[in-house]
Amino acid sequence: MTPFKPGFAHNGNNFYAELRQEIEHYFTSNKKAKTGNGKLYRKTAFALLFVPALLALSFSTAFWGNSPMWVNYVLFALLGVMHAFTGFNVMHDACHGSFSSKPWVNNIFQHSLGLLGSHAPIWKFKHNVLHHTWTNVDGVDDDIAKSPMLRHCPTQTFKPAHKYQHIYMFGLYAISTIWWLFGNDSIKYAKGKVNHQSMPKMTAVDHLTFWGFKLLYAGVYIAAPIYLFGAFHGLMLFLTLHVVLGVLLSVVFQLAHAVEGMHFENSLEYSETDDKIANEWAVHQVLTTNNFATKSPLATWFMGGLNFQVEHHLFPKISHVHYPNINPILIRTCEKYGVKYSEMPTFWKAIKSHLRWMRLMGKEEHPRLSVA
Ligand SMILES: [Zn+2]
Repeated sequence: MTPFKPGFAHNGNNFYAELRQEIEHYFTSNKKAKTGNGKLYRKTAFALLFVPALLALSFSTAFWGNSPMWVNYVLFALLGVMHAFTGFNVMHDACHGSFSSKPWVNNIFQHSLGLLGSHAPIWKFKHNVLHHTWTNVDGVDDDIAKSPMLRHCPTQTFKPAHKYQHIYMFGLYAISTIWWLFGNDSIKYAKGKVNHQSMPKMTAVDHLTFWGFKLLYAGVYIAAPIYLFGAFHGLMLFLTLHVVLGVLLSVVFQLAHAVEGMHFENSLEYSETDDKIANEWAVHQVLTTNNFATKSPLATWFMGGLNFQVEHHLFPKISHVHYPNINPILIRTCEKYGVKYSEMPTFWKAIKSHLRWMRLMGKEEHPRLSVA
């Protein structure tokens, strides 16, 4: 059965209209474009030059003679960090159309996801449509659809193993990108669906890019290391890259929605005919999303503004480079309309909160059935 995708009530709240007006005023009065700027393009150049440089350096060690293998493990761990950096900063903005004001530039740079082994059209449906519209709506948002292995919210079925999910989840995060690239993508591609939701029909170019990038990725990151360093080290290097990448991506995305104080909805509670989520869409986004470490320039630089997730969820078409500047406008407007804005001061405090939340969800009985 296809779970119903509930609508959002229009409760006469002027919150989003006023917020949009204020943000619009910020960009017009400062004569700024909402899309990427020199800062973003310098980051892009850094990412797209550094990744091949690391690869070339690693592969060249095969011809050095007595180069120690640990050098390659360090280089592949760094590749994991740089793949996360490219995903956060380049791919994410381009897939949302905020990288550039020119659609063809976004179309090119969205395929940086292909270079990371996945596929932009599939990810855009899963992320831009399902996750960004029905954030934390159980049954529709793919980011919290990890059942039965992980239980993210009170409406998901409890299994005894969930008692330990706050411990074993890091093992799942470590292999999450291998499963994403080779398992999950293949299932979505074969079924034409993300979980129960049908994706738009793929074009011939989509099919070509899916297979082209998968083959290229497998050639560069699996076949070439095996050829150069032998089957054991080749596969272990691949695993090293993905453990680093998987943990970084999972943790950063989880800190935005699966922490204490976040609101969750259950799509099964809404009928297809009339019921709507009581909050309007913009208020729902604020209640289901958490900011963290917004005062850390390093976190903001590395995570592509994903530490400003509330701004990102409300304005995904605005490039992340502008989020620190519009944050005070958001906080002010939330205060004015009594909308609960969530922020954790540091990355570590957000991680601890994620741990506590997953531990709470790992209990059959817990004090809160619904968190508002
Ligand atoms: Zn996004």
